[in-house]
Amino acid sequence: MAERRNWLVIGAGPAGLLAARRLAKAGHDVRILEAEDEPGGRVSRIRVDGLDMDAGAESFATRGGYVEELARELGLGERLVTPAGGPAWIVSEERSFAMPKAGWLGVPTSSLAPDVIKALGLSGALRAAVERFMPPEDVAPDDSLGKVARRRLGDAAVDRLIQPVVSGIFSRPVDDLRIDAAASGFAAEVSEMGLVRAAAHRRSVAPAGSAVMGIDGGIFVLTQALAADARAHGVRIETEQVVTALTRKDSQWEVYTETEKWSADEVVVAAPRPVAAALVPQLERAPDKQVALVTLSLDAPELDSQPRGSGVLAVGDVTRAKALTHANAKWAWVAREAPTRNLVRLSYNVSSREDLSGYAVADASRLLGVKLHDKQVRDLVQVTWHDAAPTRAGDREPAPGLHLVGAAAGFSGLAAIVDDDARSTLGE
Ligand SMILES: Cc1cc2nc3c(=O)[nH]c(=O)nc-3n(C[C@H](O)[C@H](O)[C@H](O)COP(=O)(O)OP(=O)(O)OC[C@H]3O[C@@H](n4cnc5c(N)ncnc54)[C@H](O)[C@@H]3O)c2cc1C
Repeated sequence: MAERRNWLVIGAGPAGLLAARRLAKAGHDVRILEAEDEPGGRVSRIRVDGLDMDAGAESFATRGGYVEELARELGLGERLVTPAGGPAWIVSEERSFAMPKAGWLGVPTSSLAPDVIKALGLSGALRAAVERFMPPEDVAPDDSLGKVARRRLGDAAVDRLIQPVVSGIFSRPVDDLRIDAAASGFAAEVSEMGLVRAAAHRRSVAPAGSAVMGIDGGIFVLTQALAADARAHGVRIETEQVVTALTRKDSQWEVYTETEKWSADEVVVAAPRPVAAALVPQLERAPDKQVALVTLSLDAPELDSQPRGSGVLAVGDVTRAKALTHANAKWAWVAREAPTRNLVRLSYNVSSREDLSGYAVADASRLLGVKLHDKQVRDLVQVTWHDAAPTRAGDREPAPGLHLVGAAAGFSGLAAIVDDDARSTLGE
């Protein structure tokens, strides 16, 4: 083993917990300072109408199998679950429709299928169908996916199908999304085959099965198990310790919280990027995108038929909310635990800590296509998250003995964070 050193980890979200556990397993002395009263970060829980639910992340990408492997390692293999299948719904000012079955990243691969005609109208579908007869064109990795798709498929396909999917995955306008940022190597495939054939090819090579998974009881169970395992390896987790400053003194780090001073040989910053940038001056400040989630528990038997399946994406300004998840429809464990009420989660882009309770019922009504009333609300819980779309940090070790992981380093999503940890050489 490397020389035993004294480490402080700032933040007990998944990245901080993974780093701390790795370091403790390698024999180091590790303590985590966490601002909240419980570990978990954005993979933590909220209580809605007596049920513990995910406060932030609610599923993980199965890509690479990293999170699944971690869950099994933590004894959660039996609790791994897949969400209900079925298409997402799209709701815009003009129409509501289920996302066409045949497609990839919103690109319809069977343009004249009835579900595409329903979505785009006959003229929009015919316009998209023309693409197969267009010769492929040279597309560069930096070209905008939106612009390429508009040229080849027309505006209707882009605005009604591709944009909602891109917003859901990348939280940005499709016209601003580089084609190779949407999918690495896609520009070359489009240049060779054209857009629809390249999308059909991607779809055919995508591994079978669901692209995401969850955990029976919520994925916050994973960070709870991770925290328990880290503790079992000797990690001390100090909660309600908000780190406010960090200084280097005589080859040691001094870390200040609101109430105490701690020192360490090495520090891992695993707090969201805006916090990390305030603590580490070398770190470039990045835009702070905020997302608010409003979870409603409703006395609404009219939703038992799951009128819009498990989820809805809002297009344009049809509602203040950008998306809705009907948790009873999406997760069998929610339906089992809440058989007599319906749990619905709305997500909003916000620029400040704004109270959205006044919008939630009207937005849910519009997106679900069912008239709901305030008196049907049994509970409403709002959580606002900062740093919803982190950007990569250039240097992962901006000063000697100072390391960045997770969102602080620009990683987003459990799959990316667990994968990064698996490759880590921290503390070796
Ligand atoms: C709304 C939303 C939904 C998401 N959904 C998904 C999803 O479904 N699937 C998925 O894979 N990913 C999802 N993500 C992304 C995922 O949650 C993050 O990538 C992941 O949680 C980042 O882990 P982290 O440990 O780096 O940071 P965090 O989870 O943010 O943890 C950081 C920790 O640092 C603590 N902290 C903050 N400031 C201080 C301070 N000054 N001192 C001490 N501690 C501090 C925080 O309290 C927190 O515990 C979602 C993110 C958001 C915002």
